[in-house]
Amino acid sequence: MSSMQTSSPQDSTDDFVERLDSITGATVVHGMSFSDLTTLRIGSAPRAVVEVTTPGAVAAVVKEVVDAQVPWLVVGGGSNLVVGESSTVEEFIVVHLTVRQPILDDSDGDVAEVAPVMMDVHEGTVSCFGGVEWDALVAATVTSGLGGLECLSGIPGSVGATPVQNVGAYGVEVSSVLQRVLLTYCGVDGHVAGSQEWVTPDALDLSYRFSNLKFTRRAVVTAVEFRLTPGGMSAPLRFGELARRLGVTPDESSQDGVVRRPAAAVREAVLELRRSKGMVLDAEDHDTWSAGSFFTNPIIDADTLPLIHHAVREHCGDDVVDSMPVFPTGDGVKLSAAWLIDKSGLTKGWKVRDGAPASLSTKHTLALTNRGGARSADIAELAEAVRAHVRETFGVDLEPEPVWVGF
Ligand SMILES: Cc1cc2nc3c(=O)[nH]c(=O)nc-3n(C[C@H](O)[C@H](O)[C@H](O)COP(=O)(O)OP(=O)(O)OC[C@H]3O[C@@H](n4cnc5c(N)ncnc54)[C@H](O)[C@@H]3O)c2cc1C
Repeated sequence: MSSMQTSSPQDSTDDFVERLDSITGATVVHGMSFSDLTTLRIGSAPRAVVEVTTPGAVAAVVKEVVDAQVPWLVVGGGSNLVVGESSTVEEFIVVHLTVRQPILDDSDGDVAEVAPVMMDVHEGTVSCFGGVEWDALVAATVTSGLGGLECLSGIPGSVGATPVQNVGAYGVEVSSVLQRVLLTYCGVDGHVAGSQEWVTPDALDLSYRFSNLKFTRRAVVTAVEFRLTPGGMSAPLRFGELARRLGVTPDESSQDGVVRRPAAAVREAVLELRRSKGMVLDAEDHDTWSAGSFFTNPIIDADTLPLIHHAVREHCGDDVVDSMPVFPTGDGVKLSAAWLIDKSGLTKGWKVRDGAPASLSTKHTLALTNRGGARSADIAELAEAVRAHVRETFGVDLEPEPVWVGF
């Protein structure tokens, strides 16, 4: 079961880590640091990385680490994590949800029971192990003629992480297609560590880039069941830039607001748009060495909006106020973090000083990127500089979207 990459004398005396390695479906991988595990490519090496590839292994490993009271962290694709270089991080056991085989066995046209994905293409039901790569699942559903996930194409990371911050892009959030989520509890809230339960989405308090799982380590999303739409058409297109790219005319969009296109065409358009913004991972492109959008779009009280309009007018002039994106939401109005950063004067590629190893992406002001050799302090410094500048210029507080660990 064990596939050691490298080992050290310390590793061989770590009985606890060896015990984790003996769990069926779990494999301890040595010599990995958070710079290998995260898309920002920063962070020290943890005590051990345990790859878990089945729901049973998730339950068993979670029970072991919780019972032993060791510091631990569940990680998927590491694309929403900012990890420090610190002794705290070096003590972590990383529970890395992943899979080791292609996600579909469609040799006879069906998905094998043993595969980590099960699809009923007639009903539109898709169940998937949390360690599956998200975009591989999206591609498979689109290929199978199921609509619903195509606008979320190209988002890095794992299936299990998608409900954690209710991922969203191009007018769609994953909450719109979630049917059930299999949680492995982590020994808090009166649940036994390692016990598992399917819950419906209302149990997760999903909202914009949030669920009650984010920042809590309350439970591990071990599998997800989606309800998609058979017939090959996309979810309704709600995002102007994407609709225009797909040739949707103003007439079409003004009818009943429900415009769809073939899911495969929407996926291609989304991937093109994302690539042009550095939002599809590419090892060769430092603009993608990021955690994606680094700040959430601020939601402010509608009463505060005139104050912000005033600040924008003072700083940028009347015509810019008119073009300021403002989206009504249930709780107030949502502003565009990317727009605010850009209009505050911090343009694409901005860095705190010449030669700094971290900068805004050269393709998108909302991504903070590692230009090679950046450490967590460089990302933290850049993030704080951006926040301070936007606060001073427009009076708006930007909140980081990723999870920070070990600072
Ligand atoms: C280039 C780029 C583009 C991006 N674009 C988007 C986008 O368009 N929309 C969007 O919403 N996000 C986007 N992101 C952010 C990120 O990809 C998503 O949040 C993604 O769902 C994170 O998945 P992950 O497996 O990498 O999570 P990780 O980074 O591994 O983990 C993130 C957090 O979730 C926890 N976690 C991970 N897996 C589980 C699990 N199974 N159960 C419980 N907790 C878990 C971790 O402990 C951590 O706290 C982007 C990131 C990058 C780098």
